[in-house]
Amino acid sequence: MVDIETAPNKVFTWGLWNQTVSLNQIDEVGYTLCWAAKWEGDKDIMFSSIFGDGREKMLKRIYDLLDEADIVVHYNGTKFDIPILNQEFALRGWTPPSPVQQIDLLRVVKQRFRLASNKLAFVGSYLGIGAKVQHKGMELWRDCMNGEPEAWKKMEEYNKGDITLLEKLYNRVRSWITNHPNYGLYFDTDRPMCPNCGRVHVQKRGLYRTTTLTYQRYRCMDCGTWSKERYTSMDKEQRKNVLKGI
Ligand SMILES: [Zn+2]
Repeated sequence: MVDIETAPNKVFTWGLWNQTVSLNQIDEVGYTLCWAAKWEGDKDIMFSSIFGDGREKMLKRIYDLLDEADIVVHYNGTKFDIPILNQEFALRGWTPPSPVQQIDLLRVVKQRFRLASNKLAFVGSYLGIGAKVQHKGMELWRDCMNGEPEAWKKMEEYNKGDITLLEKLYNRVRSWITNHPNYGLYFDTDRPMCPNCGRVHVQKRGLYRTTTLTYQRYRCMDCGTWSKERYTSMDKEQRKNVLKGI
């Protein structure tokens, strides 16, 4: 799980209302301030910032984590966190970290629900799983950019709080994720394994038929994910026990 916080672009403007900012009005482009991340199953939430580690080390640490991970869970990270980190890596002349499968929970809630707002704060409160850490808004960002230690404490709390919320959201919506990277392909097991949570507590629940094929359908007794396995024209030896989400 990963979440980043960024500094805004610093720009010169003549007015405050409906401004169009040209490139030559940019004083300083935005950059990554900090990130928080967590391995699933680990207790610790990792955190790194330009204040604590310096820009280079902060980026190297998240680069290494992305390089090591098979799957990354985020909220709007497909369009925000990951491309921003990528451009920071490229800026330093680094080549891409090894490819990682992405689970963007914003895409999941957009696809499966129709909430009044897709902001993480709203989704968290709607599903009753928790709230974001409160802060004083733009002032906190400004204070952090000015290197004020108290502000950075709050930023760390805020950034880590988002990871806690993200993990709770992941666990809540896990069974709603279609095309979840398949756990069955990451583990060598001869027992049918839930594609979305990797547990083997799955039950046969009827058949699933497409126009051409019949599948054995399963339901995970731990997370509730439905999955299927090709049923016909496959003898026991051929079966790989790799279930696929429906
Ligand atoms: Zn499961």
